[in-house]
Amino acid sequence: MSMKKLDDLLALVRVRAGQRVALRQRDPDGEACLKYIDKDAAPQALGLLCRKLAKLQEIIYAEHKHKILIVLQAMDTAGKDSVIRHVFGSLNPLGVRAINFRAPTLTELDHDYLWRVHAQAPGKGEFVVFNRSHYEDVLVVRVREYVTPQIWKRRYEQINDFERMLCAEGTTILKFFLQISASEQKKRLEERRDNPRKQWKFRHEDIEERKFWLQYQTAYAAALTKTNTVWSPWHIVPANRKWLRDLIVAGSVVRALENLRPRLPAASGMDTEVEIPAVD
Ligand code: AMP
Ligand code: MG
Repeated sequence: MSMKKLDDLLALVRVRAGQRVALRQRDPDGEACLKYIDKDAAPQALGLLCRKLAKLQEIIYAEHKHKILIVLQAMDTAGKDSVIRHVFGSLNPLGVRAINFRAPTLTELDHDYLWRVHAQAPGKGEFVVFNRSHYEDVLVVRVREYVTPQIWKRRYEQINDFERMLCAEGTTILKFFLQISASEQKKRLEERRDNPRKQWKFRHEDIEERKFWLQYQTAYAAALTKTNTVWSPWHIVPANRKWLRDLIVAGSVVRALENLRPRLPAASGMDTEVEIPAVD
């Protein structure tokens, strides 16, 4: 896959500045993407991107300068866990952390909603992937009415301010919404229910959440519209096709990291003539 084709493909999923997101106008099958890549060519392209990603991460780790934050959000079964495995699984574990954000504990609830999130933000040279995130505080929290509208409405601005601060302090933030259709989710939930190898993933709560599908679409559209910023952009990834989903996330991250132009640090003042002592 050529760079030009990859960049054209990635442009399709990037939310443009100031764009009002209407999820019904987006295609979770990603038909328009098939002009650039087909399923047969995908494994090789993904393999290449993952190798590039591993190299970039090694340099970022050594350079100890940039902080990388990847945010994954999606409805159940869209593939957040699989993306973490397929795309970020080949990185050096020393420099990577994947964080699951579940329903907050009592202690977490005693604090502001960004408290637990800030604590997990990446340090220099570090690569952090959020599996769910502070966005749940304007999604599930809104849909299930855990707080009043007055409270969740003001959070968009607070989130933008928080992310702007992280960015100003050296963090590169890339946010991905993995978009599946309701019919694809139904298929995947049935598969989890019926396939003994997948039953461990099946949770009755997921069935309850699915009943709120339309409310979630509304909440997602608002969140994506109001928090798509220059310093922390959203990507809406068609996720009905797993191979396309993985390729797009990998490609977006690789291109963004290449733009940072990370460099291996020069060893300043090092004596390259130093003798390595013999000990035997
Ligand atoms: P899973 O991603 O399947 O492990 O599920 C995690 C669950 O935690 C989901 O049902 C989320 O909606 C829930 N969750 C995550 N963050 C929050 C939050 N801030 N408030 C309430 N529920 C949350
Ligand atoms: Mg779940």
